[in-house]
Amino acid sequence: MNPILSSLPKVDKLLDHPILSEFSHHLVLKNTIKKHLASLRQEILLNNLNEIPSIDLIAQQIKTEFQKLSSPSLKPLINATGISLQTNLGRSVFSPKIIEKITPMLSEYLNLEYDINKGERGERYSHLVPLLCAMFECEDGLIVNNNAAALMLIINTFAKDKEVIISRSELVEIGGSFRIPEVIKGSGGILCEVGASNKTHLVDYKDAISPSSAMIAKVHKSNFAQVGFCSEVEFGDLIKLAKEANLIDYFDLGSGFVDGFKTDEPSILDIMKLDPSLISFSGDKLFGGTQAGIILGKKDLIAKLKKNHLLRALRIDKISLIILQETLLAHFNKDYELIPTISQLSQSTQILQERANKLLSLLQDSILDISFEVKKSTARAGGGSLPLQEFPSEAIAFKVKNIQDFSFSLRHLGLIHRIYQDNIYLDVFCITERHFKPIVDAIKHALDNTNQNPNSSK
Ligand SMILES: *Cc1c(COP(=O)(O)O)cnc(C)c1O
Repeated sequence: MNPILSSLPKVDKLLDHPILSEFSHHLVLKNTIKKHLASLRQEILLNNLNEIPSIDLIAQQIKTEFQKLSSPSLKPLINATGISLQTNLGRSVFSPKIIEKITPMLSEYLNLEYDINKGERGERYSHLVPLLCAMFECEDGLIVNNNAAALMLIINTFAKDKEVIISRSELVEIGGSFRIPEVIKGSGGILCEVGASNKTHLVDYKDAISPSSAMIAKVHKSNFAQVGFCSEVEFGDLIKLAKEANLIDYFDLGSGFVDGFKTDEPSILDIMKLDPSLISFSGDKLFGGTQAGIILGKKDLIAKLKKNHLLRALRIDKISLIILQETLLAHFNKDYELIPTISQLSQSTQILQERANKLLSLLQDSILDISFEVKKSTARAGGGSLPLQEFPSEAIAFKVKNIQDFSFSLRHLGLIHRIYQDNIYLDVFCITERHFKPIVDAIKHALDNTNQNPNSSK
């Protein structure tokens, strides 16, 4: 046996070590010790360690690991990136007013699957559907865990072992390894790609129709756009073709949106007016709610989706449904103050300038060693939507020493930012006045942490 290995401290000895004594009653401590010793052993065997750290140091490292385990990993962040729907940062945020409204429902029972009229079991999917149908002029709807689940459920229900006809320009990867061809396959469908990557014509779809076809699908290109020599078939024409061939048409809108900001893209209602069989979209992209997949379309088709046993595995949870209810009501009332995504995308330049100037003065008054300025910036919707649309914005820009260290520190202090042309950029697009003080504090702390004192030698 490796002599260094045998000199590793024993578990019991560490359990009794004074540095760890305050946690010694905790069952998880023993596991943490074992895991730490195992990784030390691994390091020794790989010859990465020449000598065993002192038992005090080992105990200290275990204490740090134990404390890290018992502190929350998820934490609030300030999004100063200028990208509204950052999938990595949780996509849409909820207005504090919505949180206030839903709080009582979170700590009480509710009629999630209870029919108050009849006093018997009701349906989880019944709650928002009447309003969805009224707002989007459709027969029926269904809400599932997310839009990926909606796509899976639709393919699995209607195109199991059958062909889904789809343009080669729409076989997109959304991110996080979600790829349309793989999801169609994984859901039991057979992909029938038509057209070329830049051009697909109606006749391409027509020629592909065979007895094994089940569906003509269209997928929003989401996070990319094509320019130049390209063309695609309008969804309206695909609906007509599907009807003639007795097939189902389906549009995965990705980031369907309702209203409230300027864009050239068609809204959910615009698309529903074409009278499609089925469409689906995410609840937490431009819709501005929470993670969900919203399916709208024909009553007989929705009924078939509800009979698919997979639905149980894909169903929406009550917290998401409660939040989605408030978002939908806010859309109904055009109360965009309640939907931060929409308020952000509809902000005027003047408001952004005022916000940036206010933050600038606060920073200038609070931190004298740094010279801050306001610069023009470009914000984006993000979340795989509106890839070409730029939203003029404003940012606070400043220079620091050791910019990478400073950036690391700022991230750990909860301020997510961009580095651009050797400046830290804080885009004000997704921040509000309640973030001002935390921003000032984070910058102050990061300056301290990275030794920016002009008199210091570093
Ligand atoms: C985002 C997106 C999805 C996945 O939606 P989630 O709600 O994230 O599951 C599927 N299809 C398209 C076209 C998308 O843009």
